[in-house]
Amino acid sequence: MLCDYHVHSDFSHDCSTSMEDVCEMAVRKGLSKICFTEHLDFDRRDEGWRYFKPEKYLSRAEKYKEAYKGELSVSAGVEVTYQSVYASEIAEFLELHKFDYVTGAVHMVNHTIVGSPGYFVGKLEDEAYGEYWSELLSMVQSGLVRTVAHMDYIKNHRPTQYGPFIQERWQDELVQILECIIEREVLLEVNTSALRRGLGAPYPSWDIIRLYRYLGGNEVILGSDAHFAEDVGAHFADVSVELSSMGLVVGAQT
Ligand SMILES: [Zn+2]
Ligand SMILES: [Zn+2]
Repeated sequence: MLCDYHVHSDFSHDCSTSMEDVCEMAVRKGLSKICFTEHLDFDRRDEGWRYFKPEKYLSRAEKYKEAYKGELSVSAGVEVTYQSVYASEIAEFLELHKFDYVTGAVHMVNHTIVGSPGYFVGKLEDEAYGEYWSELLSMVQSGLVRTVAHMDYIKNHRPTQYGPFIQERWQDELVQILECIIEREVLLEVNTSALRRGLGAPYPSWDIIRLYRYLGGNEVILGSDAHFAEDVGAHFADVSVELSSMGLVVGAQT
């Protein structure tokens, strides 16, 4: 029985799917659990800034937790757009509102959306990637998030002039992040939305997942990052077979 730890509903600014439609689809696909992870953004330049309404969200989620009891476990979480400059604001917000689950994503670096054309303009790979990895490490170290969402999200709009991504070039940074994930018992998400985008591998890439395993990582969780009901649990069967063959446990029922 698989769990989807990363789904959105219309409580996220970029999604218009109802919670009910997401739950229905999860049941139809035979998932045992879903976790809503609505966007929580602290940067005024972010499209989702101040969109999220926590009280209304938590009470609506309560309704579906009840409605699907015994059939589907429903959790109410958030996907925090982490930037170190907002760490204390994020901590305050999470203290104030008790979510079941917090996943963290580096969607922005220096107030710019990672992967937007503007992010890479005038930057060499060293700078663009270096700043991204360093923000990601800071997020893991912050202790604010339970999970790292789409770890190599930056690969999304990699400029062609950088040439192919060579993991060895970033080995030190990746090892440092993954070791920190393992040490602090943060969960690594395998996010299947990259497969829907035609990237040929999930976030993070198979090579990064292999490195995580090599460093002693035992467990990963799956997230579809669905913004449409039909994408809930997408590619989970294939990906979990692959992960199990690497000796990783897929799941975490917490
Ligand atoms: Zn995200
Ligand atoms: Zn998401």
